[in-house]
Amino acid sequence: MLRTGKEHLESLHDGRVIYIGGERVDDVTTHPAFRGAAQTVAAIYDMKADPANRDTMTFEEDGKRHSIYFLKARTRNDLQRRMEGHRKIAELTFGMFGRSPDHVASFVTGMAMKPDALVAPHAHADNLLAYYKHIRDNDTYAVYAVVPPQAARNPEFYHKQNIPVPTLRVVREDDDGVVISGMKMLATGAVYANEIWIGNVIPLAPDQKKEAITCAIACNVPGLTLWSRKPAAVGLTSEFDSPLAWRYDESDSMLLCDNVKVPWERVFVHDDALLSRNVYIDTPSHCYGNHQSNVRYWSKMRLLLGLCSRIAAATGADQVPAVRETLGKMSAIEATIGGLVHGQINAFESWPEGYACFNRRIMYAGLDWCTQNYSMFIDQLRELCGGGVFQMPADISVMDDPELAKQFATYWNTPQADSVTRMKLFKLAWDMVGSEFAGRHLQYEKFYAGASFIIRNHSYRETDWAAFNGLVDKVMSTYDVPAKR
Ligand SMILES: Cc1cc2nc3c(=O)[nH]c(=O)nc-3n(C[C@H](O)[C@H](O)[C@H](O)COP(=O)(O)OP(=O)(O)OC[C@H]3O[C@@H](n4cnc5c(N)ncnc54)[C@H](O)[C@@H]3O)c2cc1C
Repeated sequence: MLRTGKEHLESLHDGRVIYIGGERVDDVTTHPAFRGAAQTVAAIYDMKADPANRDTMTFEEDGKRHSIYFLKARTRNDLQRRMEGHRKIAELTFGMFGRSPDHVASFVTGMAMKPDALVAPHAHADNLLAYYKHIRDNDTYAVYAVVPPQAARNPEFYHKQNIPVPTLRVVREDDDGVVISGMKMLATGAVYANEIWIGNVIPLAPDQKKEAITCAIACNVPGLTLWSRKPAAVGLTSEFDSPLAWRYDESDSMLLCDNVKVPWERVFVHDDALLSRNVYIDTPSHCYGNHQSNVRYWSKMRLLLGLCSRIAAATGADQVPAVRETLGKMSAIEATIGGLVHGQINAFESWPEGYACFNRRIMYAGLDWCTQNYSMFIDQLRELCGGGVFQMPADISVMDDPELAKQFATYWNTPQADSVTRMKLFKLAWDMVGSEFAGRHLQYEKFYAGASFIIRNHSYRETDWAAFNGLVDKVMSTYDVPAKR
């Protein structure tokens, strides 16, 4: 089944509990802090369901058509199709939605390609396969919270006071399921989603058995509260003044569970700390999910490159050879991420048996490159903007007053563009480099896949060190201690 945007928005009217500070949000589809991005999510669903996009955005299995990101790739061409689907979704938000509906769905799809990695008795492969079919067949929007809260790092502090350690854990097992309580960070997109996958992508200590729960819950399950960070749309005056924050703030929420019941059918791993992490890396799960991240980042780089070019043209600096060199450098950067994405497909791995996976080392190289360089790319745009972003009036209400509007048109026009067009461009650039929305994206791009040392550990793990060491040995085997002359 392919759901429409309208159907998705209706699915959000389910009594979920969301707070912005002390304010309880009744309806994310109409609340000023969320409604713009809710429409964006609906637009993604409509784009997928549009018959004109049938071949790019869907595939057929079990007699029905499904969203392309549920495709378990068997060939290089299947991987290409997945990438093109991700790209079309990412283009719709200009790369601003990291956890669009294709992100966690890709994690689940990748895991479902190697169910034997979910080893009994602490993992439940059948539940995972049923869940894959459930979200595929219902076109469900799933997000995840797979990192313990920072507050959980000193368990002794809580033990001494006889209060529970705040990280999410199983507090009870019943015949019909487990009961979980505690916090998990940081469910991006949860306010617009249907389901939240709970797990552990970062290794746990072996004795953290009760934290090792991997399961899925509905966003409206009793006992679940979503604590939203400050939405970027709060206090905005118009789309003109904050065009990215207006529509593309995907939201981030802390997940707070208070005795939430999870039926056994939705439990995938429990009581095994090692396995709760390994299910992502012993299957294509982590690779499929993070390939989407690379493709999404590429879309953002394309907008960034366009902004660099337009801003340079608007200030007239594009005529300066040194500025053209900067633009050339940015162009090379955009092409680099494109190359990294295509490389993951061209050098694909025939793994697991019968399936195809993106090249894992190149995918992790892409993740590392993206997280390490985003601030630098943004800084480049910031430099091109100069003080232009602050030459503009506070907001577009300046046009409401005929006298002010006349002055604005007279003094802010340049040979390159009229005053309103310039203002529109610089407001967009500011939402990319300087606004609250921009700041959240700086943080997101650094941490969305874990801190940098976590990402580099993935690269370390996936490297065939014997091959590289062998090269050194090979060179050294071609010469020896020189004979005494
Ligand atoms: C905007 C945003 C959206 C997010 N969305 C999601 C989401 O959808 N789902 C989800 O599950 N999570 C999400 N996260 C959470 C993300 O996974 C974590 O922020 C990330 O794993 C880093 O963990 P941390 O925040 O606890 O930072 P920390 O691990 O506390 O790291 C903080 C700093 O300390 C350094 N540091 C800490 N320990 C070490 C060490 N041993 N060696 C070297 N350096 C170290 C790190 O490099 C980093 O610079 C999101 C985060 C952000 C910022």
